[in-house]
Amino acid sequence: MAVPIRTCVGCRARSPQTEMTRLAVDGAHIINSRTAPGRGAWLHPRSSCFDLAQRRKVWSRAFRQTGLTMSHPPALVQDSE
Ligand SMILES: [Zn+2]
Repeated sequence: MAVPIRTCVGCRARSPQTEMTRLAVDGAHIINSRTAPGRGAWLHPRSSCFDLAQRRKVWSRAFRQTGLTMSHPPALVQDSE
């Protein structure tokens, strides 16, 4: 079965969703969840992609909701290169 392809909200590159982490909204908090209902934003689990997303303030657009806070950053691996 084909793996769905998602666009990273940080670097905008497309990857299989199995290689990415999913962010969702719970109330006014952005959480890291693959199963939470509602809109999701997909991100490579890299700090560089997370930083890009933060700098571009993509959250309000990705979730169509403003005033969101990140209660804890998603599990990220540091770039090794
Ligand atoms: Zn990315």
